Amino acid sequence: MKTRFAGPVLAALCLLPFPARSLDEPRKVVDYDIRVRLDPEKRAFTGTETLLWTNPSQDTVQELLFHLYWNAFRNNRSTFFRESGGQLRGDRADEERGWGFIDVTSMTWDGQDLRPGFRFVSPDDGNPDDRTVLSVSLPRPVGPGETVRLEIGWEAKAPRVFARAGYVRDFYMVGQWYPKIGVYEPAGRRGRAAGGWNCHQYHANSEFYADFGDYRVEIDVPERFVVGSAGALVAERKEGGRKLLRYEQKGIHDFAWTADPRYVVKEDTFEPSRDVPKEELARAARLLGRSEADLTAGMKPVKLLFYMQPDHVDQWTRYADAQKWALAWFGLFAFPYPYAQVSCVDPPEDGIGAGGMEYQTLYTAGTWKGLAKWPLRGIRTQEMVVVHEFGHGYWMGLVASNEFEESWMDEGINSFTEYEMMTRRYRYFLELPFGAGFSPLDLPARGFIPSSPDYDPILAASWKYWGGGSYAKNSYARAGLAVEQVRRLVGEERFWKGFRAYAERWRYDHPTSRDFFDAIALHAPSPWLADLVARTWYGTGFVDYRVLRAASTKVPERTGYDDARKAVNFTEEGTSTKGDAAAKEKGKADGRKDRGKGPWDTVVVVGRDGDVVLPVDVVLTFENGKTWRTTWDGRSKWLRLKTTYGSKLARVDVDPEQRVVLDRDSMNNSRFLPAHDGPSAAAKVRTYGVHLVQILLSTLWTLV
Ligand SMILES: [Zn+2]
Repeated sequence: MKTRFAGPVLAALCLLPFPARSLDEPRKVVDYDIRVRLDPEKRAFTGTETLLWTNPSQDTVQELLFHLYWNAFRNNRSTFFRESGGQLRGDRADEERGWGFIDVTSMTWDGQDLRPGFRFVSPDDGNPDDRTVLSVSLPRPVGPGETVRLEIGWEAKAPRVFARAGYVRDFYMVGQWYPKIGVYEPAGRRGRAAGGWNCHQYHANSEFYADFGDYRVEIDVPERFVVGSAGALVAERKEGGRKLLRYEQKGIHDFAWTADPRYVVKEDTFEPSRDVPKEELARAARLLGRSEADLTAGMKPVKLLFYMQPDHVDQWTRYADAQKWALAWFGLFAFPYPYAQVSCVDPPEDGIGAGGMEYQTLYTAGTWKGLAKWPLRGIRTQEMVVVHEFGHGYWMGLVASNEFEESWMDEGINSFTEYEMMTRRYRYFLELPFGAGFSPLDLPARGFIPSSPDYDPILAASWKYWGGGSYAKNSYARAGLAVEQVRRLVGEERFWKGFRAYAERWRYDHPTSRDFFDAIALHAPSPWLADLVARTWYGTGFVDYRVLRAASTKVPERTGYDDARKAVNFTEEGTSTKGDAAAKEKGKADGRKDRGKGPWDTVVVVGRDGDVVLPVDVVLTFENGKTWRTTWDGRSKWLRLKTTYGSKLARVDVDPEQRVVLDRDSMNNSRFLPAHDGPSAAAKVRTYGVHLVQILLSTLWTLV
């Protein structure tokens, strides 16, 4: 009996999406109780925190590592400054008065002073001047599973904002602001052979990787400030012209806040029964093979808070629409949002360096007054920045991959979900005349991918790409498009099953790149997948399909000798010409009458540049309107198609449905033969618009 059932049982086991290891809630490793006071005159923050840290490993741990992020702005010798040159996303540091810092002034464990064990370390680049990672050597080791309770005091000064955190006038964006313990990874986590610290320096382009826990934060500010934070407000007390606000949030790994007297706070609610579009719910149920009731079961109402600048208040509904849509979309295609609230911070225009930035349960958007007016109001920047920054709350936030070491898992998957959400709800990022427009995918596919050759694979630590442009291209556009490529390769249903399985399985659980590929391969196996992953994520491969040759010539009337050696259509020397000449004249007349009739010899050659091999469709369209389609496996460098047919070739299209979204140059994928009318007006507008997009892209970098 056992033998008889072994086959079906094994098959059933293989169908299980994953080992039943998905976490319903995060493993709690840290617990922060923070009290912080802002002195706006001095831009100074004074804080104390009680940190409980539980050793999650089987090791005895002899030292603790802490992030001191604001020391990135301490001076121009920090690794952050050296990497960024004091310039990020178009914003420059104010090197006259803009410096900031954080100093740990006290740290005790069971009353014992730990300061003698302090030293700064630079695990990534050995920079002796970087002060963003503090090592604390302990008087005795922390045993497996043991919880230490540390009392920490610190003083900090905010930098003038140019890179995410800091101040301008009375606006404060307070991110990465407290002494934050690094991650001690137990053996087995993210494929680690032995346990050890994972605590990177603050780099120009990456900053997130932390353990989950609970936060209680008391913020003490002058009464005039309006404050928003990652937590829910649980208590408020006013005294002596100041106010003390107490916030709490469980199950997060980061806590950011903001303060500005000018904020106009708008409130709304994401109500799943109202805000999940019915057709999207039906579509998700069909693609994922789940019931609608199952998909909506975990969705809860979410309180939405928008901290708006007074001159942007009229734009808050655009943020709100995109926010509700993003909550609905992620709830369907990843998993329901587990927190009770989300805060969207709208920075002032002179503090836009703080804009377009993600934290947990709180993110910064960004807009300009002019973007609400014609003709710029047709550009969907506000929606894009909301779905993008909120989306990070899933990848960097809830799934919690290591953004330092595998930045594409955050920015790249997030770019993919951004393109998808923007396309599903808004269709065009930018609408042009004649019914044309730029889809959200056009920006990366037509702008970034063709713009430069590749010298880096997608998968690299953020500071190890050859330069900032390579980091940006590979972590965002190329990675986002590569995920889109996987989707087009394996098909909608299988892709989304794999995608959702990845998100659900790895919620709160710090996956690696390999875990993503495994999830897709399990649900959407494809003979093309391993090669695509190897050549793009782990290599610098690219692909450009193009039409190399397209010709259609009328098959000429037979001229010469036939099989019986009779002269056809010509006059043999030394023979009478009378009858033949008449026949020849008749032939000419018939030829005029038959012009445009077949048969026609058609030759088409399509080629593949680059080493990423993907199947591609080739479509021949003839003047009589008939089409002939074939799928080329792309394995040879070029393919020749020949046919003799009663109509002349009108056009050739390689990949007309754009299934090869990684195709570096789609402008060479079609060729029209002379008699044909050529591209439509809409297609021409698109073509000319490509240049416009490339100009726009440089501006948009402020907001990613
Ligand atoms: Zn981003």
